[in-house]
Amino acid sequence: MIVLVVNAGSSSLKYAVLDSTTGRRAVTGDIERIGEFDGGAVDHAQAFGQVLEVLADVGVQPEAVGHRVVHGGDRFSAPAVIDDDVVAAIAACVPLAPLHNPAALAGIAAARRAFPDVPQVAVFDTAFHADMPPAAHTYAIDREVARQNRFRRYGFHGTSHRYVSRRAADLLGRTVDTVDVVSLHLGNGASACAVQRGRSIDTSMGATPLEGLVMGTRSGDVDPAIPVILARDGWDAAEIDDLLNRRSGLLGLGGSNDMRRIHALAEDGDAAADLAREVFCRRVTKYLGAYLALLGGADAVVFTAGIGENDPWVRSRVCTGLERLGIVVDPDRNGAPDRGPRRIDDGSAPTAVMVIPTDEELAIATECAETLARA
Ligand code: AMP
Repeated sequence: MIVLVVNAGSSSLKYAVLDSTTGRRAVTGDIERIGEFDGGAVDHAQAFGQVLEVLADVGVQPEAVGHRVVHGGDRFSAPAVIDDDVVAAIAACVPLAPLHNPAALAGIAAARRAFPDVPQVAVFDTAFHADMPPAAHTYAIDREVARQNRFRRYGFHGTSHRYVSRRAADLLGRTVDTVDVVSLHLGNGASACAVQRGRSIDTSMGATPLEGLVMGTRSGDVDPAIPVILARDGWDAAEIDDLLNRRSGLLGLGGSNDMRRIHALAEDGDAAADLAREVFCRRVTKYLGAYLALLGGADAVVFTAGIGENDPWVRSRVCTGLERLGIVVDPDRNGAPDRGPRRIDDGSAPTAVMVIPTDEELAIATECAETLARA
């Protein structure tokens, strides 16, 4: 199926037209600075006008449109064919994702007008995690406060964790419902996921994408008393949000949100940058250990996303000393400049260690086609 994949941000519109079976791209594009004074489009509707022109120029007609939607709350455990009811449900999740869901809604509205006769599917970052057991998604705070605010662990990066855990099963020559995988999505945003026989049973991001691993600019886990202390000292909500989401993580510790730069600084003797990468890797190892325990051991550990796919130093550091947990990385395989899905373990240990490039556009296109085939 030829699918137009749409990833609408607050001021950007990324799109690709691709074959959901082969992954072959006919078009990819990125319209940025929507609504800005000197931007090329005043709003998402006008941006879609530009997309239509590009598609007409190259002569492709999508058979379906797949929209990336960050937050599906606890309503969506699978992609959904878009109708007015689904749009209303995505709008009901705006309080949970105040920056992301309005952008997705703008993209959906514009795409429905631009392609009125083409079926449209919403693919949610949260959906893969929606069936986590209650013990995994429940925060140990007053139940009534949690209920009123819809506080629970939703998890994100679900499309990526689902995709790479399926590819991991392929690489082992087994069906997805027979393998247990720890998936480590390490990019500018980062999360870990315990995948038991194809289902997410725990994940490190929570009610928002702030929880869990150390990220490019986000702190991940901190003592929840820290923001309380700052609030008592007079910090307001916007300042605390800015600190934890935009001024922390690798940037806050080491001066850059780019792991390549952190390595360069550390190798030049910068102690802060060296500590930043150690804190980053230690957090990943802690979650890896936790998820190996939850799964009672895993068939595979998968590294993916910008750092996971490209950074042998981080992969090696994360896995060092885990021999007794069944994980042994082969240094030559780990360091080889290969690109595709591959194993980097030494072949003797019980748990495969893999690098699997994630492809969220292809994953969205595939989920879109599967959803329409079922509908
Ligand atoms: P993503 O969010 O998946 O696009 O990942 C982006 C991040 O991956 C960048 O901010 C870099 O820190 C990291 N990255 C990309 N290429 C490399 C590389 N060759 N080595 C280490 N980190 C990399």
